[in-house]
Amino acid sequence: MKHFYLIACALLITFGATAQKLSKNKKAIIASVEKHEQALIEISNNIWALAETAFEETQSSKILADYAEKQGFTVERGVAGMPTAFVATYGSGSPVISVLGEFDALPGISQKAQPTKEALNEGAAGHGCGHNLFGAGSLGAAIAIKELIEAGKIKGTVKFMGTPSEEKFFGKIWMVREGIWDGVDANVSWHPSAATKADVQSSLALVDFKIEFYGQAAHASADPWNGRSASDALELYTTGINYYREHVKPTVRMHYHIQDGGQVVNVVPDYARLWMRVRDTKREGMMPVYERVQKMAEGAAIMANVDYKVSLISGIYEVLVNRAGGEAMQKNLELLGPITYTPEEEAFGKKIQEVTGKPQVGMDSKINPLEETREHPGGGSTDVGDVSWNVPNINLGVTTAPKDTPWHSWAVVACGGMSIGHKGMTYASKAMAMTMLDLFEDPTLLQNVKDEYKERKGDTVYEAIVPDGPPPISGN
Ligand SMILES: [Zn+2]
Repeated sequence: MKHFYLIACALLITFGATAQKLSKNKKAIIASVEKHEQALIEISNNIWALAETAFEETQSSKILADYAEKQGFTVERGVAGMPTAFVATYGSGSPVISVLGEFDALPGISQKAQPTKEALNEGAAGHGCGHNLFGAGSLGAAIAIKELIEAGKIKGTVKFMGTPSEEKFFGKIWMVREGIWDGVDANVSWHPSAATKADVQSSLALVDFKIEFYGQAAHASADPWNGRSASDALELYTTGINYYREHVKPTVRMHYHIQDGGQVVNVVPDYARLWMRVRDTKREGMMPVYERVQKMAEGAAIMANVDYKVSLISGIYEVLVNRAGGEAMQKNLELLGPITYTPEEEAFGKKIQEVTGKPQVGMDSKINPLEETREHPGGGSTDVGDVSWNVPNINLGVTTAPKDTPWHSWAVVACGGMSIGHKGMTYASKAMAMTMLDLFEDPTLLQNVKDEYKERKGDTVYEAIVPDGPPPISGN
């Protein structure tokens, strides 16, 4: 009993301290997100069930845009030549603060909201990166800020950027090229994760390109001497790439996907196609490797006596970190405190860990201290990188899946369709809106964020890594 009393006292003190530190406007943000919570969960669940992939997110984009419009935002749809890209704006004048929302799924990883692997729709796509939560969570943040502007508590403009096709082709590049972030003072973003932290790490730059080989078809047995094999060139090319791996810096990654290696065994293939990707932690490191592997295509073509063509698809920048913004986000995470889970949610998490062969430690929602920014962060790539070279960007990661969950997998899909994902989503809405509020209310913070952006960007002139012309809406 005494023990219980002490815990109760401690809880009251903790709660009291947190409540005291929260300003009226931050309390209003929390109340707003809680008011919209059921609607946000419904939006997220609908997008989760639709699981629409890159540039095909017609309904997912509409669900988010419609809700924003219903809340009083002015919505511009189909921006930057992409039918599923949109911008929702509320308010007027400065400052202008935007928040990113993604909503595309990954092919082939359909999954039910359960901790054992079973497809919801066999062969269909699934939200293995949690973008259903990403879009709805960011919308929740934008709405909370909109309500403060509407109530006359703050002045300025809030924008929700509906950014399609993050998993393929990188829609944000074309939105940047279109000048969608022109006049925006700062941008806030988040990503579903297995840990909660103000994210002050960069990501990897990457470049995607297509290599095609053109040969001469012939009967593979009757007159092979009349044939020049495009797939020979493709094999020689990938062999060259795999030898080259030994001689690149440890930060470089090279991946390829054979899209066409010929159709049948009794024809010398006259056409072969490969999707090639090069990454490095810095764009400057990536570009020489990109040059070299393009030359290797010529080498392979010479050996197989075929023609070749290299076509740039798109490329993205590494994320430009903003520590001043990260520190503001960190303070808000500490104000909110960690997410708490029910025994059922912990059991769900542990079951996923059991099935995926990880230590059964359950959920990790502690507020991690702000990290040092690493020179070579490792990990993946994101088109948030391109946004971050055009406007100061503040990033957040929030727990939406158990510790060590394999990302881009069925396990992430499972958590994104149930309460573990939903809790992370609304937590992200609150943390982002609170940080956006800081940017509205504290001109010094906003200036520090902008100054750091300018300093880190230096004299780099941003040039999108894309071919001329429209986005590859129906590309492959
Ligand atoms: Zn993602």
